[in-house]
Amino acid sequence: MEHSGHHILIVEDEQPIRRFLKASLTSEGYRISEAVSGEAGLRMATAQPPDLVILDLGLPDIDGQVVLQRLREWYTAPIIVLSARDQESQKVQALDSGADDYVTKPFGMGELLARMRTAMRHAHRVGPEATSIAIGELRVDLAARLVYRNDEEVHLTPLEYKLLVTLLKHAGKVLTHRFLLREVWGPQDSQENHYLRVFVASLRRKLELDPARPRYLLTEQGVGYRFAAE
Ligand code: CA
Repeated sequence: MEHSGHHILIVEDEQPIRRFLKASLTSEGYRISEAVSGEAGLRMATAQPPDLVILDLGLPDIDGQVVLQRLREWYTAPIIVLSARDQESQKVQALDSGADDYVTKPFGMGELLARMRTAMRHAHRVGPEATSIAIGELRVDLAARLVYRNDEEVHLTPLEYKLLVTLLKHAGKVLTHRFLLREVWGPQDSQENHYLRVFVASLRRKLELDPARPRYLLTEQGVGYRFAAE
């Protein structure tokens, strides 16, 4: 099994969900540790740092957001948060605090496994020394600042290019509106979601086969955007 050996820490107080996660992930070849509270999760992560953390945001002792922030003071491997439905602001806050991704309860195992694989793959990818990024029919030559689709050069404005490279460098990961605005436009413009919509639409027109049904540049409703990793 391709995942054997990977150690996953589950921080979740609800026993049925823990049991479901443990059974499914064990059968996929993952090694599992379980914590039933935030404090226990932090203790276990420190004692034996896992390859990935699955973190419930609603915990009985300390808020999952606080657990996330404390973990991110030292822990660099992927963290996927579990959030309740209709808590978009919670998801956004978790992503801004360094979560790699989220799934909304109730979730399917296929979805969670896909998110885990993407997060772990990303953790080992694009280093600062990369000179080009290729995904599907798209390729960006970072040194020459040129973008190709099916080996044909695509002309982007400097801001479109900056937005595309930011998305590509985090391919597979959900990036919040605030993160993208800060990275591309700078901290003073971090409230202008409208800029983003305009530039995303324009990138889709230039890069997507069918801009109305994007294959790469995906909208995460109410949260932000994700560049599909494959
Ligand atoms: Ca809970």
